[in-house]
Amino acid sequence: MRWALIGASDIAATQVLPALRACGESPVIVCSSDVDRAKTYAQAHDVPASTTDLHAALESGAEAAYVSSTNEKHFDQAMSAIDAGLHVLCEKPLALAVVQAQEMVDAATRAGVVLATNHHLRNSPVHQTMRLLLEEGTVGQPLAVRVAHAVLLPERLRGWRLHSPEAGSGVTLDITVHDVDTIRFVTGMEPTRVTAVGANQGLGTAAADAVMTTGLLGDGVLFSTHDAFTVPHAVTGFEVHGTAGSLIGANCMTPAPVGGLSLLRDGVRSDVQLPEVDSLYSPNVEAFVSAVRGEGQPIATGDDGRRSLEVALAVLESLNSGRTIDIDLDTPKPARQETM
Ligand code: NDP
Repeated sequence: MRWALIGASDIAATQVLPALRACGESPVIVCSSDVDRAKTYAQAHDVPASTTDLHAALESGAEAAYVSSTNEKHFDQAMSAIDAGLHVLCEKPLALAVVQAQEMVDAATRAGVVLATNHHLRNSPVHQTMRLLLEEGTVGQPLAVRVAHAVLLPERLRGWRLHSPEAGSGVTLDITVHDVDTIRFVTGMEPTRVTAVGANQGLGTAAADAVMTTGLLGDGVLFSTHDAFTVPHAVTGFEVHGTAGSLIGANCMTPAPVGGLSLLRDGVRSDVQLPEVDSLYSPNVEAFVSAVRGEGQPIATGDDGRRSLEVALAVLESLNSGRTIDIDLDTPKPARQETM
């Protein structure tokens, strides 16, 4: 398929362009808001054409659009692409408001095009294996999920993420939204309640750059997440603790296809064998292309993007209000957009 890249972004350059090419896909044009950046980017990344005109990009003969601009642009750009009849792979967070995300999902359904969210962590061998082991009942009844996703934001990414509230800055829309999606994927359960506390630890000026969230999955499983741009030396992790054992994933909340998994049962710790994968991004492209052909679903659908966004926005609402927020993902609450 021919692809229009909407956004001259780091993630497209470092992960998604290589994944598209590895899957035999053809990026044909890049669209940026700046003419020089568009040209330089196209040249540097071997994209045949560039433009600052979104509609020119969408009418370039591309059949799919990959939207990886700053967060506040996702909605308008994805809606334009859907209106133009393109299939859309959109970066997380899908939008800045639940109503927008729902509108994207509905518009794609009406237009008969595929809308997917680029939540790559679902493709981690650690998370894939944990999900299977949970389904098989290896740890019994889940009791708690603990996610550690505190990192040091690379210097090259210390721009709008830290300083532009209008672009959806802050660690919650950047990292917590990934955690939530991974929790939903691994456990098959939906968050129903969150309470969050945040801090500004020296990097972010516009929104919290470090946040801890506690919450409930369904009506009895606890979860916690620690998300930060400010922590240089921690190991990321994803743990599930159940009545019959614990699964401990380490170094698995990252763009790289790395990480290990241990199982603790009856006082014995054993390493779990994991499949080897080359990229956490190629599977999203492969499944997207298959879905366009009418074969199966994207790895994370538009509705997954809406659900994970809704929980992240509830975390923001808790940060802003100091309250615990109840969530019903089957009844989206438009008012939540006003907490941004
Ligand atoms: P970047 O900062 O690299 O790019 C975002 C936008 O910023 C670009 O589209 C570009 O705008 C503008 N920009 C880029 N470089 C410059 C520059 N030197 N000077 C001025 N403006 C610049 O962001 P990321 O690639 O980190 O993130 C893009 C999106 O992808 C976000 O929505 C983010 O949440 C998501 N993301 C997803 C990841 C995942 O693993 N799924 C990982 C990282 C990010 P323009 O297009 O107008 O030129």
